[in-house]
This record gives sequence, C-alpha cells and structure tokens, in this order.
Amino acid sequence: MRYISTRGNAEELTAAEAIINGLAADGGLYVPTAIPQVTPEFLTSLTTLSYEERAAKILALFLTDYTAGELRNCLTRAYGDDKFDDPRCAPVECLTDTNILELWHGPTSAFKDMALQLLPQLLGTALRKKGEERTVLILVATSGDTGKAAMAGFADVPGTKIMVFYPHGGVSPVQEKQMLTQKGANVNVTAVRGNFDDAQNGVKEIFNDAAFSEELLRQDVKLSSANSINWGRLAPQIVYYFSAYADLLKAGKIQLGAEINFSVPTGNFGDILAAYYAKLMGLPIHKLICASNANNVLTDFLRTGLYDRKRPFFKTITPSMDILISSNLERLLYHITENAAQVKAWMEELRQTGRYQVDEGTLAKIQALFWADWTDDEGTKDMIRLAFARENYVPDTHTAVAWRVAENYRKETGDSRPMVVVSTASPYKFAPHVLAALGENDLPEDEAVMFDRLHKKSKLTIPRGLAALRNAPLLHNNLCQREEMAARVLAFAKK
Ligand SMILES: *Cc1c(COP(=O)(O)O)cnc(C)c1O
Repeated sequence: MRYISTRGNAEELTAAEAIINGLAADGGLYVPTAIPQVTPEFLTSLTTLSYEERAAKILALFLTDYTAGELRNCLTRAYGDDKFDDPRCAPVECLTDTNILELWHGPTSAFKDMALQLLPQLLGTALRKKGEERTVLILVATSGDTGKAAMAGFADVPGTKIMVFYPHGGVSPVQEKQMLTQKGANVNVTAVRGNFDDAQNGVKEIFNDAAFSEELLRQDVKLSSANSINWGRLAPQIVYYFSAYADLLKAGKIQLGAEINFSVPTGNFGDILAAYYAKLMGLPIHKLICASNANNVLTDFLRTGLYDRKRPFFKTITPSMDILISSNLERLLYHITENAAQVKAWMEELRQTGRYQVDEGTLAKIQALFWADWTDDEGTKDMIRLAFARENYVPDTHTAVAWRVAENYRKETGDSRPMVVVSTASPYKFAPHVLAALGENDLPEDEAVMFDRLHKKSKLTIPRGLAALRNAPLLHNNLCQREEMAARVLAFAKK
C-alpha cells in the first residue's frame, strides 16, 4: 500500500514514511492509493478475536510495509499490559434504545488514547525501519486532552522526545494536573503566558522556521507532530468501528450484513473520517451522523456545501469540539472527488478567504452518506439528564452531543436501524458539567470530592489515572513567555 498527498504534488510513500513525515511537502495530507476491501467472512472472523487481534488484522491491510511481528509488537505495547481499564479496550454498552461505543478506557480517559497509544509505537518502529539515527522531537500545542494523551503515549519511547505547550490558566485543573504529573525521561510540559492560539501559533512558527530546523538538525534532532493529520493517528481509529460491529454481531443484536448508523461527536473530523474509511472498506454502515456543538461549521457545510470559518467562536462545555477548521475534511474531499487539483484549490481558498463552496455533485455524494446536526450547551445538559433518567447511564458532555443529535436524526428521518453513539470521554473528565446537568449545583472546588460525588451518582468506577491524581507528585514546573518558546525547545532538544 502506498500513500499520496491530497494535493497531488508529493512523492508516493510507504506507510512508515508517511507516518514519519506527518504532513506532505505540498501541504496536503497523506491518503492511501487504494482502499482494501473486506468480506462478510472477515467480519465474522473478528467476533472471536481480542481488540488487539482485530487491530492486527485491520491495520495489516493498510500498513503493508510493517511485518506481522512489528505490528503485533506495536499493538501489544499500545493496548496490552493492562494499559486499558477494560480488557475489551473499546467495549460497546447495549442500552434499551441505543448502543454506546466507549472509547475512554485508556490511560488518560479520553478517546485520544485509542490512537495516541499506538502512534508512538508505529513511529518508533518506522524510525528503526528507515535507519533514522536522529531523535524525533514531537511538539504539541494543547487545549487540554491531546497534550496528556500524547505524553502518555510517547513517554520513554526510544528515539523520541515530546514537548507540550499549553496556555497558562487555560486548561481545566484536572487536565493541568494530569499533565504536570506525567512521568518519563523524554517528556517536557511548559505553560505559555497567553491563550491557546498563542501556544498553537508559537508551535506553528517553530515548525515553519527553516533556520531553527537547521539548528536542531545540528543537534541530531528532527521535529515532528502528533496531531490528527498524521496517518499513524488516523488508521488506528478505523479499528474500533469494525470492533463495534463485531461486538453487536457477537451479542446477537444484528445479523451479518445488517446496516447500522454511527453518531460521532466531531471536532477535527478525524474520528468520523475513520468511520468513513471503514464504510469504504465494506463495513455495513448506512449513515454517519456528524454531531457538533454551537461551533457548527460542519453542520452548515454538510447541509449546504459552503464551508465558512468566518463566524463567532463559542467556548462550550464540550471544549474538544470547539474548533472552526476541521483539517481532516480535506481527506474526505479527496476521496469523494479524486481530484487533487480541485482539493488544492478549495484549501487555498479557505486559507485566503476563510471559506469555500463545493459543487452540487460533490455535495450530493457527501450527503448520500453523511447527516449533520448540532446542539447547544443546554441541549447537551438536558441529554445527560435524560440519559441518566431513561437508561441509568451517565455520558460525558461530548457523548451527550452525539446522543442528542442521534435522537434528532431518528425523529427527522424515521430511520430505525441500530444506532451506535460514539463516546469520546469518561464523564469523570468533565465532572463539574456532568454533575451540574444532574442537578448537583453546590459543587465543591476540590476535584477528588467531585469524583466521589459522581461515583455515588453513577456507580461508575473512578478511572485509575484520575484516581491516582490525588497523591501524584507534580514533576514539571515550567512557565514561559510566548517569545521564549523556541529557546525552550532548543534547550530541551539539547538535554
Ligand atoms: C478530540 C475529541 C473529539 C473530536 O474528535 P475529532 O477527531 O477531532 O473530530 C470529541 N470528543 C473528545 C472528548 C475529544 O477529545
């Protein structure tokens, strides 16, 4: 399997090379040149396998330059060794009215772990395969979840270092504590005076500074990124859609070949794009439901074909979906049109004017598979309350958005195919909002007390990683000005 750029002007690469590069040289994203196809027998065969074994079978179709042994090693390090607090890794909870695909049983209690536990292993293996001698330094700007999940994945992975910048005072207390207690000889986390955009722009400038890259190369350090444009982060996400289907088959909830729907809480369009790949491969999916919060740029795009990022930005109780540029949409446009020149033109228009409009033929093809809607914070909290009342299940805020939109879909279309709501975070991760939705208003400041309250209410076990925060020592204490970021990177690179 080879990989090419969505913008058509980069070399064809192997998977290992695409994973090392992250972004293509022409600014595009790497996509596979062909989509492997699965048979009904393949789907049946998954039912008796563990998550790790399911992942081995599916990823082998895409990462053809990795040997079976290499892949198995990577997968054991990512999903084995008790790293997840449920042996099924991505269990499906079958409720009365719907099914919940829980993607938050990893070490940081958010779905980012599903990919960020594996990406560092795939990258480390790729570096060895290519005989890369330099250290790869991963730079991340985070608004909360990605930073911790990336650090947890890259901690002590040979040949790599990871440095995370976050806005000082701009992440939740739990998120900050999760990051500041991260162990590993190769990790650094630094607060930046400023907001998330300052941190992100600082990182982007470092990536675009050729002289700085030269300076790092003299230290035998090569920069790379761990965000969801990397194929090594997207491919692992395809697995859990197959896994969910296999679990529904195994539980007798569906017959082989029956179509199901997925509702996905969407930000950067990575999670739902992985579902699209699963559909292209032959997984029986009827509709992919794209759920947004008040930053509903994708709802508008999927309904009208106009992508317009020039709009007010809202801070919501679903911060991981507070995003106005969904990078992975570029991959969808490429597969729908198979026209790299056209994709390049749209992306150029987006950069210059903040908007682009796709033609009617393209929109019709997208709408044949995708359905979109959104809900605001009130709708989100209302759904948490209803879910608890009706199903005795407590979803996190992001999951509640997808659940609410799934219900809207059913009402509007009358489609009664089995629904899977993709659950992207443990409710503990957003405990204050979840408790408030459940009517607990006199909330204490202390996180530990809040966890105990949510435990009493939901009967869900407090995730290991979050419970351990109580007594974990703070290991990092770095704060810098926006202008100092590059100097801090250089100092860490030399260490
Ligand atoms: C990142 C994230 C999302 C959005 O996923 P995308 O792949 O960016 O669309 C949704 N929910 C949570 C909790 C997340 O961390």
